[in-house]
Amino acid sequence: MLSAPSWIAVVGTVAALFTTAAFVPQIVKTCKQGGRDLSYGMLLVFLSGVLLWIAYGLMLGSRPVLLSNVATGLLVSLNIALKWWHERNVSAPAPSRLRVAIDMDEVLADSLGKHLRRYNDTFGTALDTAHVERHGIEGSVPPERRAAAFALLLEPGFFRDLESIEGSVETVRALTERCDVFIASAAMEVPTSFADKYAWLRERFPFIPPSNIVFCGDKGVVEADVLVDDSPRQLARFQGRPILFDAPHNRHETRFPRARGWAEVRRLLLEPEAQGAPRSMAATSSALSSKPELARSSSM
Ligand SMILES: [Mg+2]
Repeated sequence: MLSAPSWIAVVGTVAALFTTAAFVPQIVKTCKQGGRDLSYGMLLVFLSGVLLWIAYGLMLGSRPVLLSNVATGLLVSLNIALKWWHERNVSAPAPSRLRVAIDMDEVLADSLGKHLRRYNDTFGTALDTAHVERHGIEGSVPPERRAAAFALLLEPGFFRDLESIEGSVETVRALTERCDVFIASAAMEVPTSFADKYAWLRERFPFIPPSNIVFCGDKGVVEADVLVDDSPRQLARFQGRPILFDAPHNRHETRFPRARGWAEVRRLLLEPEAQGAPRSMAATSSALSSKPELARSSSM
């Protein structure tokens, strides 16, 4: 049978073990989850109290008070250190990748070049890109040939063997290493083109997964940070940052930053990162606005 003083010692020892051990599960949780829900204020005030208990134990010469609070102080300090390390090294959010949407016709694929060849073959003309500036083929040919000119686009296989625009494959491949790249084609304008366009994209840009190919009508529905497109009409509907890809029919357009080829797209989207700037829309916005020759450019 224990005496009263012995019971008091047992109760005190068990209490000290419990209050000290209470921090062990919290340390395990902090290791796994980072301790985001723990307040530095609470931990530091608690640690201050523990230090005062240590001083109190020293003044009293009480070894149990001293040892239990030293153990508690070490556990609280470890918790604070783990929380700080986790927040600094593990919990830091990964930099978001820029989402870049790219048009197909006149940006990746030279559909205008083939359209001109087919028109000239059909009507025995010598139409070239200089003739179709501003109005495109259909707006530049005699009215009685407009329907026939458009019908050339409906020919089976028209979009299957297009030439790719110079520099497009290399630059888009480079973009995929740092950005989420989507191909957004207004294929609804020529609904018969779906299969040919898809097959062409898979053949020429096999590194773009099918899930990143979007056939649509209005690119205002495309949720991306940047749209590279030759169509001012689509860029005007887009909610993100527009880049007008230079084409004969858009030379008069002055509302959007203009990229005269893929080398300029590469400089706009990849050079800021190459110089160490953060990978973010802010960086790209800054790059765009810092290129006066590309901002609100005049026609060529
Ligand atoms: Mg286009």
